[in-house]
Amino acid sequence: MRCFNHQDREAVGSCKACAKGLCPECAVDLGHGLSCKGPHEEIVESYSSILKFNARTVSAAPRNIYFAPVFCIAMGAMFMWFGRDEYRGLLFIMGGLFLAYGVFMFARMRATYARKRA
Ligand SMILES: [Zn+2]
Ligand SMILES: [Zn+2]
Repeated sequence: MRCFNHQDREAVGSCKACAKGLCPECAVDLGHGLSCKGPHEEIVESYSSILKFNARTVSAAPRNIYFAPVFCIAMGAMFMWFGRDEYRGLLFIMGGLFLAYGVFMFARMRATYARKRA
């Protein structure tokens, strides 16, 4: 792979934000990955803080990782139950959103968990 800015130079890695090849001169080593100079430094930095946050949350409470989605699903179901008389009412819609968000979180967590074990 060649550097995106210098076609004659061999890249040492690629930017985590845009995946462009970077030579030592163009790359910024952020400790956990490379970024091209400029706005992508901040993007790559925020990626890693999100990853760190997720890792900490999961390792701090391995048995509670399903708590948030289950809570969301339960809340959503309750809202929908209370709002059932007024179909398409605010309560019913909010319940639906909660439920969908909970299911989404649950699915995403399961995927993350499965990847880690594999
Ligand atoms: Zn970049
Ligand atoms: Zn370069």
